[in-house]
Amino acid sequence: MIVGSGFTGFTCARRLSRILRRRHDDVDITVISPVDYMLYTPLLPDVAGGVVDARFVAVPLANALKGVRLVRGRVEGVDFAQRSLTYCDLERRQRRMSWDRLVLTPGSVTRLFDIPGLAEHARGLKTAAEALYLRDHIVEQLELANIEDDPRVAAARRTVVVVGASYSGTELVAQLRALADAAAKQMRFDADSVKFVLLDTAEQVMPEVGEKLGKAALKVLRRRGIDVRLGMTLKEVHADHVVLKDDSRIDTHTVAWVTGVTGAPLISDLGLPTEKGRLKVQPDLQVPEHPEVFAAGDAAAVPDLTQPGKITPPTAQHATRQGKVLARNVAASLGHGTAKEYKHRNLGLVVDLGPHYAVANPLNVHLSGFPAKVVTRAYHLYAIPRPVNRWAVSLAYLTDALFARSVVSIGLSSQDDAQFSTSEGIPLPKIS
Ligand SMILES: Cc1cc2nc3c(=O)[nH]c(=O)nc-3n(C[C@H](O)[C@H](O)[C@H](O)COP(=O)(O)OP(=O)(O)OC[C@H]3O[C@@H](n4cnc5c(N)ncnc54)[C@H](O)[C@@H]3O)c2cc1C
Repeated sequence: MIVGSGFTGFTCARRLSRILRRRHDDVDITVISPVDYMLYTPLLPDVAGGVVDARFVAVPLANALKGVRLVRGRVEGVDFAQRSLTYCDLERRQRRMSWDRLVLTPGSVTRLFDIPGLAEHARGLKTAAEALYLRDHIVEQLELANIEDDPRVAAARRTVVVVGASYSGTELVAQLRALADAAAKQMRFDADSVKFVLLDTAEQVMPEVGEKLGKAALKVLRRRGIDVRLGMTLKEVHADHVVLKDDSRIDTHTVAWVTGVTGAPLISDLGLPTEKGRLKVQPDLQVPEHPEVFAAGDAAAVPDLTQPGKITPPTAQHATRQGKVLARNVAASLGHGTAKEYKHRNLGLVVDLGPHYAVANPLNVHLSGFPAKVVTRAYHLYAIPRPVNRWAVSLAYLTDALFARSVVSIGLSSQDDAQFSTSEGIPLPKIS
């Protein structure tokens, strides 16, 4: 039983099914997840920016996981003694299933803080619903600004605040800027009237890519008119403005909160030891004292054997590789092959910063500008785990290179669909 269909669960299911088929072992593999696809999250900023269609970054499980049973539902509790779990199906009915081996890969959710109004008025970027909502909402705000009589309200509608300057927040603000520029051209208003503010408590943009590339990214963002404020975050969020830590006020109707992640809520409900909100596991991805339970990916605190004392960061790069080790070790627990410990040295990161620009440090080679853009797009095309999706994304890239961006708000995801509680399943924090 594999809980979650993200990078880790998907890779584990696919690899495990292959191993067991080769060994002619008649084991039932079930993936249980609230969604029927594996979401290629690194392209969510492109979805929010209107470059790539949401379906292109959703790899359908039914088509991509041969010999694996799929159950749609959100797991709510695990009974380790009875080897069973309870889950809530799509119609909110409670159900129960039993398992012999349990693989916990429910990933992570946006980390929320008890900032008044945050959960209510801000939206994240972890799900397709959130990415689609941001695209639609910004286009709608720009359309409303065009017919607004009050210049102050029009300016607020044309102001976007993104909180979190790590790679996902930075990619998001760059893509949204490009969307707003395309909208300005097509709707005939001044692109400079759309203001973007990027906030982070850190003193650097994208610390993950190192100081040199972080500075290069900062320069590009500022050149595109993005107001980057470091060492700064939100104090309050309201429907039409935010208050920053220094008590200054920004009038805005759009706040994206992309400050980091924590283990999925299920993890803290298991009653097992955690580290930084992630389930503690051994280097072989087994849960201590539960030899029949495994965990990995963003949901697990996997010891980083290349940096003793640390845990692996929550990235797709680790999640995918851990999925493969999970498959091998679950198969070993069933008597096929031998288990191994997880060890992987970071291969670097690629960060797409919108039109003609990216930064990347593959194998520690620092690239920026157009060469990094080529590497970034080539990497994503290689990493998407299904040829049809690769094809669709490459056509989207080509369309983006040859034609003006489509500025449309189709309304696929409502404000409620994109709430943290609905789209990510986060119980909302109590404001003290
Ligand atoms: C916008 C964005 C951009 C990113 N860009 C990059 C990048 O460029 N490079 C990189 O390396 N990493 C990137 N990441 C990080 C990467 O997405 C994660 O590290 C990766 O998704 C972790 O994989 P996972 O399988 O652990 O979790 P996920 O991919 O989050 O999958 C978790 C799965 O579990 C399901 N689930 C959750 N709760 C339950 C439950 N209770 N019951 C059943 N199923 C459940 C979810 O629906 C989902 O299917 C990015 C993340 C985001 C949000």
